[in-house]
Amino acid sequence: MTTPSTDPNSSSFFDPGDDLTTRVQSVRDGKTTTSLRLESMLTAAESTNPSLHAFHEVLTDFARATAASVDARLAAGEDPGPLAGSVIAVKDNICTTEGRTTCGSRMLENYRSPFDATVITRLLDAGATLIGKTNMDEFAMGSSTETCAWGPVRNPHGINRVPGGSSGGSAVAVAAGIADAALGSDTGGSIRQPAAFCGCVGFKPTYGRISRFGLVAFGSSLDQIGPLTRSVRDAAAIYEVLAGVDSNDATTSDLPVEPSMADGPFDPASLRVGIPREHYTTRNHPGVTERLERIIDSLRAVGATIIDIDLPLTDYGISTYYVIAPAEASSNLSRYDGIRYGYRADPRPGEGLEELYARTRSEGFGPEVQRRIMLGTYVLSAGYYGAYYKRALQVRRLIKQEFDAAFTKCDVLLGPTSPHPAFQIGAKLEPISMYLNDVYTVNANIAGIPAISIPGGMVEENGEALPIGLQLQAPAFHETSLLRIASTIESLVRSA
Ligand code: GLN
Repeated sequence: MTTPSTDPNSSSFFDPGDDLTTRVQSVRDGKTTTSLRLESMLTAAESTNPSLHAFHEVLTDFARATAASVDARLAAGEDPGPLAGSVIAVKDNICTTEGRTTCGSRMLENYRSPFDATVITRLLDAGATLIGKTNMDEFAMGSSTETCAWGPVRNPHGINRVPGGSSGGSAVAVAAGIADAALGSDTGGSIRQPAAFCGCVGFKPTYGRISRFGLVAFGSSLDQIGPLTRSVRDAAAIYEVLAGVDSNDATTSDLPVEPSMADGPFDPASLRVGIPREHYTTRNHPGVTERLERIIDSLRAVGATIIDIDLPLTDYGISTYYVIAPAEASSNLSRYDGIRYGYRADPRPGEGLEELYARTRSEGFGPEVQRRIMLGTYVLSAGYYGAYYKRALQVRRLIKQEFDAAFTKCDVLLGPTSPHPAFQIGAKLEPISMYLNDVYTVNANIAGIPAISIPGGMVEENGEALPIGLQLQAPAFHETSLLRIASTIESLVRSA
């Protein structure tokens, strides 16, 4: 369990023969046990947390008890489920009855959920061992994990750099070998962008594929849970456990969830890869452009058809997202009033309820969350609703139609996950520059389509070798073909 090297010549890729899928098999084959594997990860968590800060809480006792019971069941010839033997980390906005669920916020510092999220129940039922809760931007608002009330998370590929966000702790847990995989949530890119910055795979399924029951709501029409992993087939394995209808979430789809990797990778010669012109601009880091060009060349070399696609609404995504997401957040976060949940300011003599609410929310929420609540309240106010919120919903429809048209010409869209690799801690604290990180990721949430980030190799910046991500997007509910195509491109990228 070593931290990835920061040596610029080091390989950017995980060993393909050492992912969750193979590790789980080695436990089944009796070569190791869940408990032994867990102990080495607990040691890694303890030794790296002071520097990397991936975890807010390590669930040592619970994890040990689960691992021991998984091993006992395997020894007794039972099948504890497809994820038996695996160790998984969970973003701290996903409710667990074990430990706290803080959302990286003082507002929920001591919150203990009375129920498990559906995804937690499904992971445990599949035999997974949960190692702990990972740090995140406060209420998942951010792209760097710097808004976490417990301090920033650091990138193992460059200790003074951000891991991306908001699922930064989950990405670092996977990148630094402290978990086989992790769960994140993605409202505008929060699984894919940290996966890109940390050299992992990050998968956001179609809106409605995975239950949001027990995910603390940020932007309910955009939020989706998904895995961060070492390989595409790991992402598929976890996705298949999590996906499917849930009576506790009326937005889940009852479409069947197919075993995505059953038919193996896609034949590259039959692939139609769309390249959105608007994702190849001068705003991209030169190393990102160079890597992409090499990967497109190697796709051509194996016979894939490369198709130029126009997505002229790309740049409207950020403005649309930053109206819709804060609007929904301002409504979702109104429940934190100091009375029903979480933090409450010390009452002052003679103070009324309104003042107590206001002080509780001013003290409990950090500046970015307050900014979003104000922005959201403003765009929903009677005088501005039509000019901002209603207009954003209209643009949302147009963005969806733009994707629908693109997918009549190609099977997937390929581009960078982020315009640049991980940036220095503190470099993008000005909100607009932070928001622009997500220029390529928000539109998948706006349209509700599935999207995955896979490692794209390393680029150099100031003498540091940093991972970049490639994003693949597909039509709604086409997870099976997206994962198969991603797996094909994943192997191509290694040699590009
Ligand atoms: N970075 C975006 C934001 O700050 C997206 C966050 C997310 O996907 N949770 O809102």
